[in-house]
Amino acid sequence: MTEAESTEENEKQGEKKARREKKYALPSRDTIVEAAVNLYLSGRTVDSQEKLRKLILGKLQRDNNLYRLSGKRLRKVLIKAGIAKVQIVARESEGKRPYFLCPVCDARLTKIVNQTLNGTEVVIGYKCPTCGYWTHRKKRVPVRYIFTLSKT
Ligand SMILES: [Zn+2]
Repeated sequence: MTEAESTEENEKQGEKKARREKKYALPSRDTIVEAAVNLYLSGRTVDSQEKLRKLILGKLQRDNNLYRLSGKRLRKVLIKAGIAKVQIVARESEGKRPYFLCPVCDARLTKIVNQTLNGTEVVIGYKCPTCGYWTHRKKRVPVRYIFTLSKT
């Protein structure tokens, strides 16, 4: 398990526990996007998911201190809303590469096809049309994200 994955796993466990105890609230997608926009981060680069999460969660908690936000949810919301671009730092790993859903943003992956000289098509990898994640024969596991917030 990578560091990013284990952080996400811990966050998930923490969320479940907190939900049982009803000690937290989940901000809606729109609320998260609004907080990001209101921080005037447009054009800025934030070099870790955790830094961005703390910035945005801090803003959200000024309205409701029960708000919780995982890094994974934040990343997916911002990418889907089209207000963040990510640069993905990945490392190669053993195991099956993803071939259906993007591990970064959940979008459907598309095949990277190579055409041989005799016209046969060979799938050499998969890529995400939304965030740019790709993986070839070796599985590429995201370990860090660098975010650039775009104009909204
Ligand atoms: Zn993606």
